[in-house]
Amino acid sequence: MAKLTVRDLDVRGKRVFMRVDYNVPLEEKDGQMVITDATRIVETLPTLKLLIERGGKLILTAHLGRPKGKREATMSLKPVAGKLSELLGKRVGFVDDCIGENVDTAVAGMKNGDVLLLENVRYYNEEEKNDPAFAEKLAKVADVYVNDAFGAAHRAHASTEGVARVVAKRGGKCAAGLLMERELKFLGDELDNPARPFVVILGGAKVSDKIKVIDRLLDKADTILIGGAMAYTFRLAQGYKTGKSLVEPDAIDTAKSALAKAKAKNVKFLLPCDDVIATPVKTDKLDKKGKPVIEFQNPTTNGDMNCPDNAAGLDIGPATVMAYAAELLTAKTILWNGPMGLFENKQFASGTNAIAQAVADATQKRGAKSIIGGGDSVKALNKAKLGDKVTFMSTGGGASPASRR
Ligand code: AMP
Repeated sequence: MAKLTVRDLDVRGKRVFMRVDYNVPLEEKDGQMVITDATRIVETLPTLKLLIERGGKLILTAHLGRPKGKREATMSLKPVAGKLSELLGKRVGFVDDCIGENVDTAVAGMKNGDVLLLENVRYYNEEEKNDPAFAEKLAKVADVYVNDAFGAAHRAHASTEGVARVVAKRGGKCAAGLLMERELKFLGDELDNPARPFVVILGGAKVSDKIKVIDRLLDKADTILIGGAMAYTFRLAQGYKTGKSLVEPDAIDTAKSALAKAKAKNVKFLLPCDDVIATPVKTDKLDKKGKPVIEFQNPTTNGDMNCPDNAAGLDIGPATVMAYAAELLTAKTILWNGPMGLFENKQFASGTNAIAQAVADATQKRGAKSIIGGGDSVKALNKAKLGDKVTFMSTGGGASPASRR
């Protein structure tokens, strides 16, 4: 990743190809897609304003949703161009493609300080495959490359790694935007020398997604607290029954080696000592995506490490909350990534909410530095109205300290 930041760049008259994270939530209203939360757009404004002031020609590229290589009208970035124009207080051009003639023509007509947003880069499968020929096509209109999309930066896609490589090969400059710079400072430098005890809370669905983070954190942290569905893959690795809990059998070896490393490194590695379990039942109702809605019946606390065959573990239990909160009480640095359970469902949000409160208390009452990485933990904190009670929230999706390397 580039060490330069936009502050170091001379962009006057240059075509600045900038990757942003405009993967904003949209809702259909009266046949139109409306942005329900513009935070990600607002956060890029400082970088955009700086580059406009310095006379660059800004060409913005982004993805929205998972169109899987198809032109999905509901995943068009067009509404984002309108919102951005409103926020910047100036015209923002929009091209209905991210490569090709229409882009070339629009860019050729740009003046210094103009802003142009390109259509969803994931309308092409080549984006996620980091296809070199596609990266060349994107880079055709780039003199300079700027990445301000922390959420997407850890993935080697054509609009992140690919274009940067092409531009650098040509001798062009590649730099991090101001948002990215801030995120890297917190998630990188601040965590390289954390005040101790350094307590890490990891949750969410997948061990496999986060194993690089776990591995690096095992070199840094004093204590790691595991929650969410991820805990059940660890239980499986320990030989327990996990019933219908969400597990990743392919990641058992990974989980085993993390447990072994924690032991060897003397890192306190805590798994839940109780869970909230319930029986999942498929209903006739369909969700927005046409999938059957699952209802969870008979939620109960289970203190047995084995989960009954017909039940799934969906949240950490009250004893686990107490044990984890006790660890957070003495923490000087806290890093939290991933919810403790299926928190979108109120029945299984208590664990996540209690941990959010404990992190906020540690920050406000005991001066701990708390860093929240990952979209879902940020969502959970905001939902609990505790977003302003922590030290720093990263907007990046799955991006985390280890994955920036
Ligand atoms: P991740 O993207 O890996 O951070 O996972 C976040 C998702 O994991 C959220 O949508 C949670 O609802 C989900 N999740 C967390 N714990 C559980 C659980 N015990 N069972 C099912 N889903 C869970």
